Amino acid sequence: MSHLPTPDVPMVRLSYNDIHTAIQNAAVKIKEEFAPTLFIAIGGGGFIPARILRTQLKTDINGKKRNIPIQAVGLVLYESMGGVEEKVGTEVVRTQWLDFSTLGQNFNHGGLLGRRILVVDEVDDTRTTLMYTIRELKSDIEKQLADVKDEKERERLREETKLAIFVVHNKLKEKAGKLDDDVAYFSAVDTPDLWLAYPWECDGDIEAHDGLRAQNPKF
Ligand code: 5GP
Repeated sequence: MSHLPTPDVPMVRLSYNDIHTAIQNAAVKIKEEFAPTLFIAIGGGGFIPARILRTQLKTDINGKKRNIPIQAVGLVLYESMGGVEEKVGTEVVRTQWLDFSTLGQNFNHGGLLGRRILVVDEVDDTRTTLMYTIRELKSDIEKQLADVKDEKERERLREETKLAIFVVHNKLKEKAGKLDDDVAYFSAVDTPDLWLAYPWECDGDIEAHDGLRAQNPKF
């Protein structure tokens, strides 16, 4: 997901190659420990990372390399308008959600069941967005399970359905909440609480953006 960069903290500029390399390195562990069969990219920031990761994590089916499908969701983090003491970005609003008509195409249920689902975003800041996404996905999974009539089959599918998160950057700071223990978590790079300037947000000269990386604070 994305919101406007309003940095009042030191800025770290990142190049496409920085991100590609970080994801490539993280992919080894993700493949070994989770081996996803579905990506859910949180837009806009998770789109490019999910696409890079897809190249690294092709599945092998009968000796043929297959792409893992990517589904997109759109989420915006708004400031809560109600309270006196307002925290920045406390309310998540969906602008787009899963397309169950394509997701469920080859299944006799909605398409989430039995899959190893990796949620992809660019950065875990306060974690509000990720907490929301996992909560909503779990609720969709429960709805799909409720439609499975055979109890044995339902429990098999419940057991096989797995959720995990991948972020390119995890800011080491206090988070809005704790993720459930049954959700695996992967980050390519852990960072201090700095403002990360992604190349796809650059609306000026991308070469100049890359050049300024020499001034990045070291961490
Ligand atoms: P959350 O606070 O829910 O973890 O993050 C919400 C969203 O804020 C992220 O998905 C991202 O779009 C944006 N965000 C948070 N920190 C940064 C940052 O350092 N740089 C950029 N470009 N976006 C950020």
